[in-house]
Amino acid sequence: MPLLFKGIKELRNHIKSLRKEQGASVGFVPTMGYLHEGHRELIKSSKMQNDITVLSVFVNPTQFGEGEDYERYPRDLDRDLAVCEEEGVDVVFAPTVEKMYPEGFSTEVVVKGIEDVLEGKFRPGHFRGVATVVLKLLNIVNPDRAYFGEKDYQQLKLIERMVSDLNLPVEIVPVPVVREKDGLAYSSRNTYLSPEERESALSIYRSFLLAKRLIEKGNREADNIKVAIREFIMSHPKVKKIDYVEITDENLNPKDIIENGDRILVAVWVGNTRLIDNWKVEV
Ligand code: AMP
Repeated sequence: MPLLFKGIKELRNHIKSLRKEQGASVGFVPTMGYLHEGHRELIKSSKMQNDITVLSVFVNPTQFGEGEDYERYPRDLDRDLAVCEEEGVDVVFAPTVEKMYPEGFSTEVVVKGIEDVLEGKFRPGHFRGVATVVLKLLNIVNPDRAYFGEKDYQQLKLIERMVSDLNLPVEIVPVPVVREKDGLAYSSRNTYLSPEERESALSIYRSFLLAKRLIEKGNREADNIKVAIREFIMSHPKVKKIDYVEITDENLNPKDIIENGDRILVAVWVGNTRLIDNWKVEV
């Protein structure tokens, strides 16, 4: 079983002693729990590159907006511990909200620019919550490397920016999106989907394949591809609305003419579930 810590001091002391006594390198995988194949891939990458792997489970209230799914977000620490054991995670850190945000807490990390576009536009305050909690977690764990999924591509870019701007002594390692056999990106939120909704959710991945075919045929105008993606996704019965379909370069700058290495990013409501996904253009 991995060692479970709920206290910040205890975790810090443990990691400090591993470093001192064993000279261990530390890999860190921050999560909100309810672990799935995507998280497993992050763990595997960390295990390959580090002596010790630390995984955090913390559903961070400050990155959820009013009316979002903070309360109903799936939680099951025993299940997560079992996954961690299977994957050989050494240490699990699962702090309480009170420990992370004691009375009087008043600091916020703002990564300007990135937080105003795409997800940031639809989830005001979300990225301040993310940047603040990730900086806290990095300061608590003090890892050599930290692993982030490209599934949350904008989040990855935000963290890279923060780490570079603030000279944090950690290497950020990106991990490509992990998908189910039929293309749906693994997400803890997939548990909200009914079978019919899940079928409609497949339109997201299939729209990327459609875009790929169109681009291969020479359609490189971003506006045309965006319209095709929107129409395709919206033609599925359980899709309620699309928050955005955007095509950007790898640094999230919008593109007019699509080139290899660009990103197609989408946020789609399937029933009452909001799903995000993205795809790297490689044709
Ligand atoms: P979450 O628990 O959803 O906050 O995710 C924790 C980490 O796992 C983040 O870095 C995510 O980007 C990453 N992640 C979640 N789903 C996937 C996936 N399907 N493929 C790759 N990484 C993922």
